[in-house]
Amino acid sequence: MPLLKSLIQAQPLLISSLIQYAAQYHGEREIVTRTINRDIHRTTYAEVYKRTQQLANALEALGAEPGDRIGTIAWNSFRHLEVYYATSGVGCVCHTINPRLFVEQLIYIINHAEDKFLFVDSSFVELVEQLSISLEGVKGIIVMCDQEEMPETTLDNTYCYESLISGHEDRYSWPIFDENTASSLCYTSGTTGNPKGVLYSHRSTVLHSWCASSPDTLGICNNDSLLVIVPMFHANAWGTPYAAPMSGAKMVFPGPHLDGESLLELIEQEDITCSAAVPTVWLGILQYLKKTNKGLGILERVAIGGTAAPPIMIRTLQEEYGVRVCHAWGMTEMSPLGTTGTLKKDSLSLPKEEQYKLQEKQGRGIYGVEMKIVDDDGVELPRDGVAFGNLMVRGPWIASGYFKREGGEVLDSDGWFPTGDVATLDAEGYMQITDRAKDVIKSGGEWIGSIELENVAMEHVGVAECAVIGVSHPKWDERPLLVVVREAGSKVTQEELLKFFLGRTAKWWIPDDVVFVEELPHTPTGKVLKTKLRKDFAAYVLPSLS
Ligand code: ADP
Repeated sequence: MPLLKSLIQAQPLLISSLIQYAAQYHGEREIVTRTINRDIHRTTYAEVYKRTQQLANALEALGAEPGDRIGTIAWNSFRHLEVYYATSGVGCVCHTINPRLFVEQLIYIINHAEDKFLFVDSSFVELVEQLSISLEGVKGIIVMCDQEEMPETTLDNTYCYESLISGHEDRYSWPIFDENTASSLCYTSGTTGNPKGVLYSHRSTVLHSWCASSPDTLGICNNDSLLVIVPMFHANAWGTPYAAPMSGAKMVFPGPHLDGESLLELIEQEDITCSAAVPTVWLGILQYLKKTNKGLGILERVAIGGTAAPPIMIRTLQEEYGVRVCHAWGMTEMSPLGTTGTLKKDSLSLPKEEQYKLQEKQGRGIYGVEMKIVDDDGVELPRDGVAFGNLMVRGPWIASGYFKREGGEVLDSDGWFPTGDVATLDAEGYMQITDRAKDVIKSGGEWIGSIELENVAMEHVGVAECAVIGVSHPKWDERPLLVVVREAGSKVTQEELLKFFLGRTAKWWIPDDVVFVEELPHTPTGKVLKTKLRKDFAAYVLPSLS
C-alpha cells in the first residue's frame, strides 16, 4: 500500500531563519565581544542581522557563488557571527579554520576545501602572509576590522571588512533551497594523517540547535547570557552560535582572551548564566579563583567536554561555587553533541556520591543520537555499564562521510559511524568513555582505561595536569606510566602519588611509575597530545625492569 502523504508545510530548515528570528523577536538582546585590543564592543541581534544582510550583499558583489567555500580564521566575535550567517545564508559554505594548526596543515586544509575567500582577524594577517604563496584558489582576503585598524600587509586582494559592507544595503532576501544543502565545513585536527572535513547541512545544524536548546542538554534559553568560550573554529563552538539565536539568548564572545582573569571579568560584568568549554579552560578559571578568592557571579551551569571532565573539577564547581556541571561528549563529526550529563529524575534521588559517579560519566543518550557498543567483530555488547567496546553512533546530525570522500566509506552497512572511542553503556543510557581506542593500554591481554587513572591522579592536590600512557613491558606488553605536571609550589613525590591510587582503582591498573614534566603537549583543540607523549617516552624503561 502506498504511504499517505501528509498535509504539513514542507518548509526547509535553513540557517538564515535562525538569525532572522532572533532579529525579529529579540532584536534588542545584546551581543557583546571583547575585541583583540581588549575593548568591550556591544551590539544587538537587530544590528547584527542588518550587518549580516549587508555582508550577504557584499559577498554576492565579490562574486561568491552558491556552494563556494568561504574560510574564516578568526576568534569568537560579532563579526565572526555575521560571517557564519551571511555565508551559509546565501548558499555558500562557512569553513571555519583552526589557526592553532601547523602551517602545512592550514595550507592543506585551505587548498583541500578550495576556499574562494578568507575572512581573517587582523591578528592573523601575518599568519596568512606565511601561507599565501601556497594558497591555490583564494581570490580575496577580508580583514575583519575597521579601516583605521587595517594592518600593513604584503597580501594581494585584501579588503577591510567594515569598508566592504558599508556600501551595501542592509536588506537581503534569503534564498530558499533544499535543507540538505551544505552549510559549513570543519576539519578534524588530524593528529594522525591529514585533517578530514566534516560537511554539515542546514538541516543538521537547525536540528542540532534545537537539541542544544532543550533543557536536558545545554538548555540555552531566552533568559540566558551565554559566554561562548569554545572557539568558533572548533566544531562550531559546539553549535552555540546557532542555538542561541533560536531563543534570543544574549551572547558574549571573549575574543582571543581565554585566560582565567579575562573570562572571569566577563562572567561577572555580563551576568553570565551559562557557558561551555574544555577542562583546561575551567582549570585556568579555577586556578584564578583560588588565587583571588573570587566567585563566579550568577553563573548557573556549565558544560564541560572535549576531554574527560576530572571529577574533582565537577565537585569543586558544584560544591564551592554552586555551578551545575553538565559533562558532555561529542565530536566534530557529530555537530558535535553526542551525550549530555544532566541527571535523570530517578538518579536525582540517589545518594550524592552515586550522583557524582554518574556525573563522571560522559552523559546519557539524547534524542537524535543512537548509540551502541560493539566488540572488534562488530557484535553488540550488553548495556550493563561494565562491558566496554567500540562506541558506534547514528543520527541526523552525524557525518555520513568526509568531504571529497577522504577516508572512503566510514559508515558500516547499517549506517553506524565508528567514533573511535571505547565506552560502556548502561541500561539507563549513561555512557562512559574509558579511552580513545588508540590510547587504550593493553596489559596482559586486558585493557586499562587511561581516563580513570587520570581522574584519580587529578584528585591529588599536588597534580595540576596529567596523562597516562602505555609504555612497553616485556611480560605484560604494556604498562601504564603517569606523566604529571605538578601544581605550582607542590613537591608531591612519585611514591606519594602511587600510594594515592591504592583503593581508588583496581590494583593491577595502578601505574608502574610516575614522571614529572614542566608541561604536557597539547593538540590544537586543547587535548593532551598522547601520540607525542608516547613518542617521547618510547624508550622509557620502567624502574622494575632496570
Ligand atoms: P579533535 O579534532 O580534537 O579530535 P573532536 O572535538 O572532534 O576534536 O574530538 C572528539 C573526541 O574527543 C571524542 O571522540 C572523544 O575521544 C573526545 N571527547 C570529547 N568529549 C569527551 C569527554 N567528555 N570525555 C572524554 N573524551 C571526550
